[in-house]
Amino acid sequence: MSVNKEAYYRIKQELDTAGVTLVAVSKTKPVSDIRELYELGQRDFGENYVQELLEKAPQLPADIRWHFIGHLQTNKVKLITPLVQLIHGVDSLKLLQEINKQAARHSRVTDCLLQLHIAREETKFGLDEKELEELLQHIRETSLTHTHIRGLMGMASFTADTGVIQEEFRSLQKIADRLKNENIPGLSMEILSMGMSSDYPLAMANGSTLVRIGSLLFGERS
Ligand SMILES: *Cc1c(COP(=O)(O)O)cnc(C)c1O
Repeated sequence: MSVNKEAYYRIKQELDTAGVTLVAVSKTKPVSDIRELYELGQRDFGENYVQELLEKAPQLPADIRWHFIGHLQTNKVKLITPLVQLIHGVDSLKLLQEINKQAARHSRVTDCLLQLHIAREETKFGLDEKELEELLQHIRETSLTHTHIRGLMGMASFTADTGVIQEEFRSLQKIADRLKNENIPGLSMEILSMGMSSDYPLAMANGSTLVRIGSLLFGERS
């Protein structure tokens, strides 16, 4: 197994030109693959599973910025809080409060993104608009001192219909624009995490500031 260096250089240049951050999604891939990309200069890596992240991180350089992009269970928060740069998949107030609590224990402020459900598919995680409003109302009333919400994350439907994908990305961008103008303590909107191997150009065309790319860099997952 090895990484696709040509694809990495091409994508990296494309993203750098546009000022978009590349998170290399290394789930299920061996530490040797991550090190290979690290040696080409990559520092932001994304993992989906707590156990896998806990196994890999200690074997790799300490200046890697780990992004947790998977679905995070409340009872696992304490395991990853000391380790991660950004938690992308915050999809409930309960989870946000637990991150706040664990970050406080480590005397740090943990950066998070709220994951919104933008896809038509029922299977994808994320807050709907009503749940988002409830969560925001809560943090307006009780600001969380050890988390900072840096933006939003979303996944488009798995479909070949680019019109549908575009519409979903736009809906996320619209919500981010709206929240930018609200003055909510502990919330800013500088990151819009959207786009994967199959749809990142479309995400970039619709305001993405961070893309999460796995298979184009590391090859297909089995
Ligand atoms: C696996 C995964 C990715 C990367 O997917 P590719 O299609 O391999 O680029 C991006 N985001 C999330 C949330 C993922 O789970």
